[in-house]
Amino acid sequence: MTTIGVCEDDAQLRSVITRAFKAEDFDVVSVATGAEALRAFVERQPDVIVLDLGLPDVDGRDVCLALKANGVVAPVLMLTARTGVHHKVAGFEAGADDYLGKPFALAELMARVRVLERRAIAMRPTPEGARLDPATHAVVDGEVSVALTPTEFAVLARLMSVPGEVVRRRALVAAGWPDGAIVSDNTLDSYVRRIRNKLSGLPEGGPRVETVHGVGYVWR
Ligand code: CA
Repeated sequence: MTTIGVCEDDAQLRSVITRAFKAEDFDVVSVATGAEALRAFVERQPDVIVLDLGLPDVDGRDVCLALKANGVVAPVLMLTARTGVHHKVAGFEAGADDYLGKPFALAELMARVRVLERRAIAMRPTPEGARLDPATHAVVDGEVSVALTPTEFAVLARLMSVPGEVVRRRALVAAGWPDGAIVSDNTLDSYVRRIRNKLSGLPEGGPRVETVHGVGYVWR
């Protein structure tokens, strides 16, 4: 399961964001101050961090710098009411990977976090050495690289994020298709078939997508 670290001092907004991520099957570690973020995120190592710029105790940019300095590798999406260009530049200079101005639509936050999630997953080593390259939308094993479509990439990334764990069909649809898209079981199955066909071009013996009937799929 992908873990999202949320640092936001506005209790109401923090609760809305936390509930939204949990509804999408993310694990959430949420804190209200920069000091708590440093403690909790260094220990838990979330996969993606959503960090408020205007915190009561420390500037969010300094939190971002300190997290990176303390070995936190998760991409950071910075939230702020200040949307001026110079604030964005300062945020990126502090190591933020994306920026979202308040007020924002939850759907946009979710979409941006999913992009960062794919990037985080692609950086993770997988058991047999197969990995995803987000720059080329390919799955790579040793010298062999197989191109995927954006939807195939997103579905496979979701499976590869939790090797050995069953991913439910609903979660795969949420990962691969835009919010509200009508995706039939047949459509998902045919995408998985296409992914399997492409994976057969990789060296033998690597991990594969297995079917768990009536539930979903698992990468192992
Ligand atoms: Ca704030």
